[in-house]
Amino acid sequence: MPATDLDQIVNLCKRRGFVYPSAEIYGGFRSSYDFGPLGSLMLRNVKNAWVRTMVQLRDDVVLIDASILSPPQVWEASGHLANFTDPLVDCTACKQRFREDHLTDPTTCPNCGKQGTFTAARAFNLMFKTHAGPVEGAGAEVYLRPETAQGMFINFANVLQTSRKKPPFGIAQVGKSFRNEITPGNFIFRTREFEQMELEFFVPPAEGPAWYRYWCDARLQWYIDHGIPADMLMLRDHDADELSHYSAGTADIEFRFPWGWGELEGVAQRTDYDLTQHAKHSGERLDYFDQSTNERYVPYVIEPAAGATRAMAAFLLAAYDEEEVNGEVRTVLRLHPRLSPYQVAVLPLSKKDTLTPLAREVYATLSQRYMCEYDETQAIGRRYRRQDEIGTPLCVTVDFDSLDDRAVTIRERDSMAQVRVPLTELAAAVAERLGF
Ligand code: ATP
Repeated sequence: MPATDLDQIVNLCKRRGFVYPSAEIYGGFRSSYDFGPLGSLMLRNVKNAWVRTMVQLRDDVVLIDASILSPPQVWEASGHLANFTDPLVDCTACKQRFREDHLTDPTTCPNCGKQGTFTAARAFNLMFKTHAGPVEGAGAEVYLRPETAQGMFINFANVLQTSRKKPPFGIAQVGKSFRNEITPGNFIFRTREFEQMELEFFVPPAEGPAWYRYWCDARLQWYIDHGIPADMLMLRDHDADELSHYSAGTADIEFRFPWGWGELEGVAQRTDYDLTQHAKHSGERLDYFDQSTNERYVPYVIEPAAGATRAMAAFLLAAYDEEEVNGEVRTVLRLHPRLSPYQVAVLPLSKKDTLTPLAREVYATLSQRYMCEYDETQAIGRRYRRQDEIGTPLCVTVDFDSLDDRAVTIRERDSMAQVRVPLTELAAAVAERLGF
């Protein structure tokens, strides 16, 4: 299969209602996107798959949902006010603005090709600032969070007291983050408003390195388990000069995007930096007393930090396939069944009234467990193709024989194989094929 290019995915997303450019009727709002009927289902599935793996299937992680608006003290303590900056350079010839660390040649402008026209780099803070309450000015400033992680650190003591967890344990969160990116782009890869899925995993300091390895491997495997081929993924250890001063090791999980390798997720050993900083700035104790050893310590933190919207782009790119079937091109999104917008499409063979009650009954039954679509217009072959293109793993067809034999046809997206199943066994047959 030739590598999927970005335009194929952008077009499919627009055409089928996954992702639209935001405020399109007003000419678009650069680098913002709206998730349509299918995209919002898929994005929700990506986040749910993460919560399932990270929270539901283990007993040492709890979930929180912290506020997006936060006071400057949080970002003062975390270091974001001082350090969450990108180096910005302007080309004095064409007036374009770039991130210096993204330039392949820092002396030549990639836009106009002139040499030596860049200004000196300026530190540009990426946080969005706004005002709370009716009065603007000092004292009313608040920030839109640029990451979800601080919500876990500032709630560490609350969670410890209320959840009865002890290290090693984790606090997870999924939600929106905002960064005033200088160079957003590549579709939903880099936007100013995006969604993150982050875990802060608190461990006794001596266990830090082992848990770090554990989370690097586990997180890489998560993408493979959800359908990305291993050869499109890479775990890349940061070089010493890429590490932040408090980090004892960071690795990026990278995906082979059409424009090259790009980060999907960072796994970092953050030592006791964050809890210590917040303890210092807030005056509160943020540590753990281990009754079995009579020891008090500040846990070390391992942080797997992923982007939900960026992961969705990778899942779509990895799933996109075109193949020739009977002389025609079939476009198929080979999405993992947990991620596809719909798990099942219920398709009565014809629109005739005689089929409707049974088809509706099948739809009502399967909808109890799965997101289903009901579609009765157009020829059945075209409807199958439509479902292939949006990644629906199974179609259930109700035909005129169904009224007599009380059986329906299940058609699989990937193999296009069809099998006749009695209605009494339909739910089990669907569950078996989907894997849940
Ligand atoms: P990058 O180097 O790409 O700017 P980062 O290293 O600053 O990313 P982190 O702060 O580690 O990113 O954030 C964790 C994850 O959040 C990233 O791996 C990515 O998946 C996601 N993410 C970060 N910034 C954006 C953005 N502007 N748009 C979409 N997703 C983002």
